[in-house]
Amino acid sequence: MFQKILIANRGEIALRVIRACREMGIASVAVHSTADADAMHVRMADESVCVGPPPAAQSYLSMPAIISACEVTGAQAIHPGYGFLSENAQFVQIVEDHGLTFIGPSAEHIRVMGDKISAKETMKRLGVPCVPGSEGGVESLEEALRLGEEIGYPVIVKATAGGGGRGMKLARDADGMERAFLTARAEAKAAFGNDEVYLEKYLERPRHIEIQIFGDGRGRAVHLAERDCSLQRRHQKVLEEAPGPAISAEERARIGRVCAEAMAELGYAGAGTIEFLYENGEFFFIEMNTRLQVEHPVTEAIFGVDLVREQIRVAEGYPLSFAQEDLIINGHAIEVRINAERLPDFAPSPGRITQYHAPGGLGVRMDSALYDGYVIPPYYDSLIGKLVVHGRDRDEALARLNRALGELIVDGVDTTIPLFRALLEEPAIRTGDYTIHWLEQWLESQA
Ligand code: ADP
Repeated sequence: MFQKILIANRGEIALRVIRACREMGIASVAVHSTADADAMHVRMADESVCVGPPPAAQSYLSMPAIISACEVTGAQAIHPGYGFLSENAQFVQIVEDHGLTFIGPSAEHIRVMGDKISAKETMKRLGVPCVPGSEGGVESLEEALRLGEEIGYPVIVKATAGGGGRGMKLARDADGMERAFLTARAEAKAAFGNDEVYLEKYLERPRHIEIQIFGDGRGRAVHLAERDCSLQRRHQKVLEEAPGPAISAEERARIGRVCAEAMAELGYAGAGTIEFLYENGEFFFIEMNTRLQVEHPVTEAIFGVDLVREQIRVAEGYPLSFAQEDLIINGHAIEVRINAERLPDFAPSPGRITQYHAPGGLGVRMDSALYDGYVIPPYYDSLIGKLVVHGRDRDEALARLNRALGELIVDGVDTTIPLFRALLEEPAIRTGDYTIHWLEQWLESQA
């Protein structure tokens, strides 16, 4: 059993992990860059270690600095949060080579799922339905043009190493393919240092539905239903909810079972998310995230479980604390991502928080590392809080979200709060009738 865990992250997710540790009686170690010396996760942890200068590459991504911080403090395990080193197979290997425990899946599973082509091959073999497309990487423009005809336009060109919506380009026809292929490759090379791309049928009106799974690493796995993350801007999630308003109980049970069985067969350990596009009653796998997701609290709300606690327990070698039949959905939950961004162009808006007041009351959870006087540094991502509401049904959750947004005060910087207040007025949001393209179109119509 762990006495001390180091959290290789910052912001709200570092707080989230510290809270789980404290409830489990485990000491926590925060790491921070010099820009984050006054950050809330540093204040809240039992101990802290400065791991480098502001740029993440020299601090939160510095493997030697993080391993040294473990050795100096005597931490036995590392929780990576999301982003940074959370899906870095080489890091997992180094952690294990130092006799430490990585709280997450094996290096091998991270490697397989981190490459989207091997991820799709693996999922196909395990019986998970995939988006039709190229069998693997596409080497040349000639091949892309041939496959484009075969798959049928529109086709999306995607980076094998992709993430964060980068390196993805749409080709509506053969003419568009040349441009899409070359720009996707160039973007992938610049962003990931790997210019391999593959092709997928472009779905015109899908929803983004992802299944939360949990494995014990020894052949047992369960699913915790789906999250609908269809409200996106530039392929980035903006609002997430669980359960999905468009998914029936039968569909949920069927796709959930396919996912749980696949993960059991793989021997997957810990939390993972299998992402699908959902159109006309069919699920198409796009990628798997081998870590805790930003939007995990909506799943925690409807099942009443603590996913971080479960991650830590599985890493300690305990069996799962819930069986599939224990996992019963209770009500509806919605999360909105509060970003320090200026509308309408969503430009980053770092700076000093002059006043912060978190909403409260029944069914409201605010995960944020903000405090009065905190200065948001310009070096990291713009997520400054997650407002999560839980109600008996979707309508109650929406009313609660509106009420909570009214209580939330974040002064001193621009935020996405006004976006959510405006969205709650929209009939499509109220009925849950939207695809992954709805938000972009709505934003254009507002411009
Ligand atoms: P990333 O790893 O960069 O997040 P994903 O493969 O998860 O990339 O895709 C992100 C988003 O891009 C999806 O949620 C969806 O909105 C869009 N997308 C991806 N593949 C397709 C596709 N085949 N058809 C239509 N949209 C897609």
